[in-house]
Amino acid sequence: MIRLKLKFLGAARQVTGSSYLIETDESRILVDCGLYQERDYLYRNWQSFPVPPHQITHVLLTHVHIDHSGLIPKLVKEGFKGDVLLTPASKELFPIVLLDSARTQEEDAAFKKKRHGEEGRKGPRPEIPLYTVQDVENCLSQLKAVPYQQPVQLDDKVMFCFHDAGHILGSAMIEVTVKDLGQDKTIIFSGDIGQWNKPLLRDPSIFERADYVVMESTYGDRNHDSPQDAEDKLCNAVNDAINAGGNLVIPTFAIERAQELVYHFNKLAGEGKIPYIMTFLDSPMAVEITKIFEQCIQYLDDETQALFKSGKSPFEFPGLHLIETVEGSKAINLIKGSIVIMAGSGMITGGRIKHHLVRNISRPESILLLVGYQAVGTLGRQIQDGVSPVRIFGQLYPVRMKIQEIDGFSAHADMGDLEHWLNSFKLPPKKVFLTHGEESSILSLENYIRSKNGWTVAAPAYLEEFNL
Ligand SMILES: [Zn+2]
Repeated sequence: MIRLKLKFLGAARQVTGSSYLIETDESRILVDCGLYQERDYLYRNWQSFPVPPHQITHVLLTHVHIDHSGLIPKLVKEGFKGDVLLTPASKELFPIVLLDSARTQEEDAAFKKKRHGEEGRKGPRPEIPLYTVQDVENCLSQLKAVPYQQPVQLDDKVMFCFHDAGHILGSAMIEVTVKDLGQDKTIIFSGDIGQWNKPLLRDPSIFERADYVVMESTYGDRNHDSPQDAEDKLCNAVNDAINAGGNLVIPTFAIERAQELVYHFNKLAGEGKIPYIMTFLDSPMAVEITKIFEQCIQYLDDETQALFKSGKSPFEFPGLHLIETVEGSKAINLIKGSIVIMAGSGMITGGRIKHHLVRNISRPESILLLVGYQAVGTLGRQIQDGVSPVRIFGQLYPVRMKIQEIDGFSAHADMGDLEHWLNSFKLPPKKVFLTHGEESSILSLENYIRSKNGWTVAAPAYLEEFNL
């Protein structure tokens, strides 16, 4: 038997910082290298990697969300010389997402340095960026695109294959096969699992067999709004804002959510359920990513491909304006009458959404529509929790606009979807490892898996290691 170990370097009994190490006699393969985003774990971004980067032979990337990809520039800076293998669409998205992350790191460091200087104190971490724009540019030559369903041999023992995960554009599940005395061992990494029957993307892949499964559990204890309920709520929000004479303001994540919302506005207007209202996507990053979608049509679902082929782009309709420049963004303020504004960031932690909120937050006729998870400590969460007044750019504003929420636009599988994905396995895997979830979600999914005949499950702790 060859040596085969699996070690959990992140997303272990918490959500962010996904990173798993496969170790054989010949290779050390990292699956994902994510940034920690939960406040309590941020310090780990600054620690040295649990495995020296120069000893890692390959990185396999499930998708470009920062909590899966965000430490790759640091890994390269600290000595990783191998290939970062990712899907072709992920390779297109990677520079946009990681450069944005680097700029945020640089701005945060400069801001902290200034503030600490004024206050005459030192923070818990150095006032330098975790990595810079230059660091991101330095790692781009190590990216190697590998299409879905094309098995790649990494060395004479290890092979891997990407399968569609249906989570965001380019997202993959990864099947790793290790040769062991003529007997293959298979590990499936679920990455983040998408929802079935979502617009734009193909459905998540399912598998009939695997020896080991590493599975996300973000929504292991909750179900979302049905797709129809989500669309109905969106339709009502637009019409309510028009009837009241206010604006509909939506904080939007730049990848997937923005494009999905544009798709829904287009569809609802086409069906006559809402008017072709002036709709602004006011986010240079979201606009850039929308262009990548248009270049990656072959990775979208059949319905969307058919739309494009018939000349009807889901990302174009009368009244839709994609705004990149600051002047364009400011010009939105001059418009009279009801409009829809989508802008980043998704949790109102920065970006142009704050400027639009300043103009709308105290107008009872406007609506703020929250369509994504709002983490503790963000302005989005404060408003969601009913805090008023709130501070924006140092000024206090009473919250008088209506607050509405839709949770059906999540890019993640819900409890029912996760159970469906597990039930596709015809034979119980030797073990299912649950990652990428808070305690309550993991517990709920653990109980479900234990209730299935002959299945074993583990929720690995940080740096826990398993011999496979
Ligand atoms: Zn993700």
